[in-house]
Amino acid sequence: MKISLFNTMGRKIEEFVPREAGRAGLYCCGMTVYNFAHIGNMRTYVFEDILRRALEMAGYEVRHVMNVTDVGHLTSDADEGEDKMIVAMRREGKTAHQIAEFYTDAFFRHADMLHIARPHVVCKATEHIPEMIAQVERLEANGLAYRAGGNVYFDIEKFPSYGDLAGLDMENLQAGARIEVDKAKRNEHDFALWFTQSKFENQEMIWDSPWGRGYPGWHIECSAMSMKYLGEQFDIHCGGIDHVPVHHTNEIAQAEGATGKKPWVRYWVHGEWLVMGEEKMSKSKGGFVTVDTLVERGYDPLALRYFCLQAHYRQQLGFSYDALDGAATALSRLRENVLALRKETGGTAAELGDDHPALAEFQAYLADDLNVPRAMSVVWNTLRSDRAAAEKLALVYRFDNVLGLGLEDYEPPREEIPEQVAALVEERLAARKAKDWATADALRKRLADMGYALKDTAEGTTVTKHS
Ligand code: AMP
Ligand code: ZN
Repeated sequence: MKISLFNTMGRKIEEFVPREAGRAGLYCCGMTVYNFAHIGNMRTYVFEDILRRALEMAGYEVRHVMNVTDVGHLTSDADEGEDKMIVAMRREGKTAHQIAEFYTDAFFRHADMLHIARPHVVCKATEHIPEMIAQVERLEANGLAYRAGGNVYFDIEKFPSYGDLAGLDMENLQAGARIEVDKAKRNEHDFALWFTQSKFENQEMIWDSPWGRGYPGWHIECSAMSMKYLGEQFDIHCGGIDHVPVHHTNEIAQAEGATGKKPWVRYWVHGEWLVMGEEKMSKSKGGFVTVDTLVERGYDPLALRYFCLQAHYRQQLGFSYDALDGAATALSRLRENVLALRKETGGTAAELGDDHPALAEFQAYLADDLNVPRAMSVVWNTLRSDRAAAEKLALVYRFDNVLGLGLEDYEPPREEIPEQVAALVEERLAARKAKDWATADALRKRLADMGYALKDTAEGTTVTKHS
């Protein structure tokens, strides 16, 4: 099945035509691992995960690559402030390596809790310094970079299509005043490819380079690593919309400037923000909610995933606990439906043809620029329909390959039975075996008084706590 996506480059919905039939190369900007990911970041990764799964459902073999920014991202995207990793080192009194490892693990732990499939390649910036240096050398050789004040900068005036992705007005950009903090730049939108003039005394975070010991600019890692793992030109590049005007604009300049090949990326697909009140959720502002925060408050992390599925990826999604409660309730209802269908069918789902009309309808919504909210309506309509239970079950499981709510593996949580109760249940079983019915009945009564009901079935005895 064909898929259409809104391409930020050109700002219109286009049919996805990969470079190689049947394959899709997908690069997603990963985390700067100096702090926990908040649920806004996670919304973007859920959207990218849905895109990957929708492509897989449509029959593409996807190669999904994600970077880990463990160096080089200053507190502003535009070369200002300090390196975020160094800020974290000072805050936590740890080494850069410890900080990066801790927050990378935390990120993937949260991603797993949200059923975000692991990328096929996860690449760390610090392990790709030679590739970045090689790309900066190519840019220098092509006359697109200049050295000033000890740093190497990209010269945007030499790259006429610089503003295309964001629709920036180049005339005005060129007329712009030089940036206050970095007088070495010829144009305020020039950006650093390599810094040697580091304000920070930190041996751990600098490398030898043709320009002296230093560290890379933030943007160079994504163009260098995506090209290493997906080729000099590839299919889809994703991220949150905040990356459009600076980070992705700069990535294009670096990649196309180095290779001379256009377009570097065929489809730019950007997710809208998760907002809290009127504001984008962000690390520097208040209202920083993580997946752990939700778990501490008693939520199933998949309620957040369900919550994200309720909005189209190009619409802002307003977070509130009330709204999350709504998603948690809907997810419980969905699970109850699945449990009921399993009970009715003995757990055996029907065999489904790939051309089943409900599947086709579900896929058609996904193919329409990932209209997940409409695809969700197909799920609920299917459950309400008069199709056979085994067919419904099979359909819901197939839908869930994209939704990622873990419905096929879902088991209701088992109640914790205190040891003392378990011991009494065992004692009663022994009494029953010995045909000592009086003791067995007395124990049943004692357990009932403690609030536990027993049910004897062919498979054994189940214990439930009265509510
Ligand atoms: P960062 O570590 O800041 O580069 O962010 C990682 C990813 O999360 C990027 O793709 C950002 O665009 C995205 N992102 C950051 N804040 C939000 C937000 N409030 N809602 C959705 N995505 C976000
Ligand atoms: Zn990136």
